[in-house]
Amino acid sequence: MCGIFSYLGNQSNAGKLVVEGLKKLEYRGYDSFGFVEAVPATSSGQGNGKLKLTKKVGKISEFPLSTFYFPISNLALGHTRWATHGKVNLRNAHPHLSADGKVAVVHNGIVENHAELRKELQKKGVKFASDTDTEVIPNLIASYLTPRFTGGLREAVRRAAKKLKGRFAFVAAAEGAEKLVAARSGSPLIVGIEKFYPKSDDRLISKIDGSAFFIASDVPAFLKFTRDVVYLDDGEMVEIEPSPKNDHFHAHFFEIENGKTVKKRVISIDWKSGKAEKGDFAHFMLKEIFEQKETIERALNQDERQIEKVAELIRKSFGAFFIGCGTAGKVCATAEYLFAKIARRHVNVIFGSEFDTQEPFLTNKTLLIAVSQSGETADVLEAFKIAKKRGVRTVGVVNVEGSSVARHSDVVLPVNAGMEKAVASTKATTAQLAILTLLAYAVAGKLDEGKQMLAEAASQINDLLNPRYSEHLEKIARKIKNVESLYIIGKAADYPMALEAAIKLQEVSYIHAEGFAAGELKHGPLALITKGTPLIAFVPAEEYRADVLSNVAEVKARGGRIIGVSAENDELFDEWIRVPNVGNAQPIVNIIPIQLLAYHLAVLRKNNPDLPRNLAKSVTVK
Ligand code: GLU
Repeated sequence: MCGIFSYLGNQSNAGKLVVEGLKKLEYRGYDSFGFVEAVPATSSGQGNGKLKLTKKVGKISEFPLSTFYFPISNLALGHTRWATHGKVNLRNAHPHLSADGKVAVVHNGIVENHAELRKELQKKGVKFASDTDTEVIPNLIASYLTPRFTGGLREAVRRAAKKLKGRFAFVAAAEGAEKLVAARSGSPLIVGIEKFYPKSDDRLISKIDGSAFFIASDVPAFLKFTRDVVYLDDGEMVEIEPSPKNDHFHAHFFEIENGKTVKKRVISIDWKSGKAEKGDFAHFMLKEIFEQKETIERALNQDERQIEKVAELIRKSFGAFFIGCGTAGKVCATAEYLFAKIARRHVNVIFGSEFDTQEPFLTNKTLLIAVSQSGETADVLEAFKIAKKRGVRTVGVVNVEGSSVARHSDVVLPVNAGMEKAVASTKATTAQLAILTLLAYAVAGKLDEGKQMLAEAASQINDLLNPRYSEHLEKIARKIKNVESLYIIGKAADYPMALEAAIKLQEVSYIHAEGFAAGELKHGPLALITKGTPLIAFVPAEEYRADVLSNVAEVKARGGRIIGVSAENDELFDEWIRVPNVGNAQPIVNIIPIQLLAYHLAVLRKNNPDLPRNLAKSVTVK
């Protein structure tokens, strides 16, 4: 949530670079955006510049570069916001300046003790200009930067960071100082290094040279310039400044706690920027739905030794917990059914945000399997902290290479779905489902059988995903686009998929959608069915078919309009969405038409499916 991007280097169009980079981070937040450029005091001078602030409300993609005037500058910091504290308006947009206008900060996360810090600063006469939690940060920094203070921006930032409670990442700049200082505690920050010399090797180093540096919440912001990165860890800071000869720049890394230098490793990442473009598709969401023709197969392309290793960890564990949030949480919930059926094994499933409630049961025999698209989900990272404290082994099923979950897991199973830009997850979801299904087979000692079954399902998905199928879903969407509510039911592993279908429909169509276990309707929710209420039913081909059809009949008898997702038609269905019968891979296949239905509903209702209201990708706040 929220994209931070800043630049300090040898180019004189820092503002433009930062705006271009922010556009690549828009999926992280799109309430408002802004940037600060340090403008040289004289046309030939470097540094000592005033801070020029630009802010706008709305999506940065809707503002062409020509909207802005970019002065000559080699230092800029920018932000695209997902509001947590303070309304979406201009005064709450980042960057925030200290009351004296001399310190600028962009921030991702929440300062939990902001009210207390604000009061302290107000007592000292500081006047606040926004309702955000963030604004205390530049003011704290400025409060240290008195004429007698010799520590400079770096030490002022360190002292300020020590006073903050909560999860945060921020970057600061100050008038007259040609440097960027950033700190991380919980939210992601990645340093990109252009023309890194010596070229990246495996050594740990405390000082890194480069012709330009970027500090960003996520890699796509600077992928155009470099693939050499340093991942900041929690409790770490970085200072970027010109070299003494002023011919290049360097970065120092150190600890927030005591200011001691820390050694870091430069990693060359293998991200492909081409994958982040829409191509011929109207939206990223549609493109990503269609990419499932390949991504499921790619997900199966795992290092078998790693899969077997995780299977062994599960077998040996005393308590295996699958954790995830939102869609990934629903993926985890299918594991409970898949493991029971395929591996005859009970596993625990819990939301990342609830994992702390299990602390009394955690030992070094417990296993935590975290499923996360971004690998930066705050609730999952909090669970990791508890797990580490109790000696729990960890496995990450994660899509983003180099993310916090990937770096902190004992074993990583990469999802391999490629960058997912639409906020509503589609291709990462089905790839995660494929991996958990494969794992269940591995635990049962039948990895090859699982691989074969899933490869067959992947090829059926390849056939299914064609423009005619999408048109069929669009037709159904037209018929239901004005309904107020709709419901989804499924049994066994289709039940969590009914919950996931509801999330997908809520996220992008904004229609009230709810998922239920098929047998549960009669225990209450049936009261919600009136004439014409749509019910989407995942109707299995074989096992449980009769049960689910009975539940469907109960809705039909009360006037419900039945949309059956099934390998075979049935007279109860008003609409039939055909899906192939793929055995234990059925949840993977069933969710795909609902992704398409949600997409078409969004477009028909004139919503932007890629950037749904109030949401953002990569939920880095608690
Ligand atoms: N808490 C800050 C705000 O509301 C930052 C939120 C974010 O991470 O975008 O402005």
